[in-house]
Amino acid sequence: MTDGETPRPDIPDAVVDLIRGADWITVFSGAGMSAESGIATFRDAQAGGRSQAALWDRFDPAELATPEAWDRDPALVWGWYRWRAGHVRTAQPNAGHHALADLGANRTVMVVTQNVDDLHERAGSDVISHLHGSLFAPRCSVCGTPYEGVDALPDDRPRDDSTFDPRVPPPTCRRCGGSVRPGVVWFGEALPESDWQRADQAFRASEAIIVVGTSGIVYPAAALPERAVRAGIPVIEFNPAPSALSEVATHSLRLSAAQGLPALLRALD
Ligand SMILES: [Zn+2]
Repeated sequence: MTDGETPRPDIPDAVVDLIRGADWITVFSGAGMSAESGIATFRDAQAGGRSQAALWDRFDPAELATPEAWDRDPALVWGWYRWRAGHVRTAQPNAGHHALADLGANRTVMVVTQNVDDLHERAGSDVISHLHGSLFAPRCSVCGTPYEGVDALPDDRPRDDSTFDPRVPPPTCRRCGGSVRPGVVWFGEALPESDWQRADQAFRASEAIIVVGTSGIVYPAAALPERAVRAGIPVIEFNPAPSALSEVATHSLRLSAAQGLPALLRALD
C-alpha cells in the first residue's frame, strides 16, 4: 500500500480494544482471504483469462469437485487440481496474510481456514485446521496413505485449444497401488474429523474470533462462528460485502483482507 491517495481505513476503537485484550485469537478465513492474491474464488474460477485458465472455462468447477467426477474421469479431475496447485504456487500471500502472521508475534493466533491454498503458511502463520483440505496433501483414494513428492507441476504455457489436454493420469500409491486423489473435501464428503476437532477446540478456547472473507453459507463450517457468538465470544468480521454472518457478528467491517487486517495491526501499535 502506498500512502497518499489511498485512504487508510479506520478500525473502530471497540474492535481494537477487543483484540488488544485477547491473548488467544482464532482466525477463520474463506475464499475472500486469498482473492487479493489472485486466487479465484470458487464461483469465479471460470472467469479465467490467462493461459490455461481460459481453456478450463469449458468445465464446470462444481462438476469437477465431486466424488462422481473422480469416479467418471480421474485424470481430468487430477489434471484440474494439478493446474490449480500450479496457479497457487505462482501466487503470493497478500498484506492480509502477512498482517495475521504479525498479529501472532505476541499472542496466540490459531488459523482455521476453508481455503485449500497454502498462503497462510507461506506468510508465517500457524494453520491448525484446513477444514476443506489442501491442494498440497494428496492421498491414496483406496487406503488413505499420504502421497509424498507430487511430480513436476503441469506446463502452464499458453497454447491453443487443439493441443490442450487437460488430463493428467494420477500417480499410484506406493503401498497399495490405488490411485492418488487430491486432498481436498469434495461436495457431498464429510469434513476431515481431526481438522474439525482442532477447529472446534480453537473456537471454544478463544477470547476473540476474526472472520475474514467467508460467505458464511457453507455448513457445517459456518456453524463455528455462529456458535461462538451464542457462547459470548466476540466475533469480528472483515468482508467487503455483507454476508450471512454480518447480522450475527459482534462487529462487521466492510473491508477486504488486504485493507482491513493491516489497518487493524497499525491501530494496535
Ligand atoms: Zn493406497
